[in-house]
Amino acid sequence: MTRSYLAKQVQDIKPSGIRKFFDLASKMDNVISLGVGEPDFVTPWNVIEASYHSLEQGYTAYTANAGLLELREEISKYLYETFNVSYNPENQLLVTVGASQAIDVALRTILDQGDEVIIVEPCFVSYGPAVSLAGGVPVSVSATADNAFKITPEQVEAAITPRTKAIVLCSPNNPTGAVLSKEELTAVAKVIEKHDLVVLSDEIYAELSYDELASSMAAIEGMKERTIVISGFSKAFAMTGWRLGYVAGPVEILAAMTKIHQYTIMCAPTMAQHGALEALRNGNDSVREMKTSYRQRRNFVVKALNEMGLSCHLPGGAFYVFPSIQSTGFSSEEFAQKLLEEERVAVVPGHVFGESGEGYIRCSYATSIKQLDEAMKRMERFVNRHSKMDEP
Ligand code: PMP
Repeated sequence: MTRSYLAKQVQDIKPSGIRKFFDLASKMDNVISLGVGEPDFVTPWNVIEASYHSLEQGYTAYTANAGLLELREEISKYLYETFNVSYNPENQLLVTVGASQAIDVALRTILDQGDEVIIVEPCFVSYGPAVSLAGGVPVSVSATADNAFKITPEQVEAAITPRTKAIVLCSPNNPTGAVLSKEELTAVAKVIEKHDLVVLSDEIYAELSYDELASSMAAIEGMKERTIVISGFSKAFAMTGWRLGYVAGPVEILAAMTKIHQYTIMCAPTMAQHGALEALRNGNDSVREMKTSYRQRRNFVVKALNEMGLSCHLPGGAFYVFPSIQSTGFSSEEFAQKLLEEERVAVVPGHVFGESGEGYIRCSYATSIKQLDEAMKRMERFVNRHSKMDEP
């Protein structure tokens, strides 16, 4: 082999900064991981049973490309009852292999080479690479701590150029937990409408909002025709391994997305779709129980972090806290590295979620209170030790 066979746009993409800490932590004993972005709960039993049952009944073949019609009908009902937005299950919904595939297909559907996509950072690590792989150009806009990590319409407007095609928004947000209120979404929506952009609204954490339920961008007046809603079963129903998500949006966009999906994926896994059907029909109580537990853990962790001097706002949703580590004098990478080596607690340095994440770390509280308690003790010891060492 005398040359690299790799495409340039793949070579240009860096591996996710989260992976590095997983790999380091997996080689150590007695590590408490606050690094992973997934529920510690096992999928509710009735969902597992429904999936088993579908296999026993012989549902082992492909489904329709867009997913089981029954499931699309149930998703449509859920979206209407929850967010008051109606989608035709026949042509406005697509069941995907996780929200991850939904993001990828949505971007490949709407982007021409060189189109700019505004990405609000700190954010989920996939958006930028997915935009680049689709031939687009990611343009970062920083949500900052002084506005509780919420983007303002002025910031969005300032990032728009004649090449801007789309914006990716995520509320509740990973990694900050920030939730945009209906008024805040409306203000951003006005700018989006004015400049005729399309929105990818990642609403995968909507069910995990702790005050009022997070609003859907599609429910804001005038936005449904330009919004691609991305969601899925991974987070609220503790189904990360099932790989099941969905997209809701305008007919034309969904037809084009389904075309790509048809050629590249065929359909999402059939047994997982049967599980998801049960999750939507009879999963409410389980979601409520898990959410109660997340709320308790969130309150516990936010209090502990603030008490040890790592200032942290109370996130409105998802299962992450994003405390500042600036008082320690460490960069977020140094903090995460030393904390792992010295106290065996894995967190994710904020910079991996975008430049404005520097000075912060992401801790997932999707783990038991017992583990969280021990992790907070270790972190406090770490912070005390380093702040004492730094004194003159
Ligand atoms: N969007 C966000 C904001 C996420 O945090 C994640 C998972 N970490 C995903 C999408 C992908 O979820 P899925 O498991 O459905 O692919």
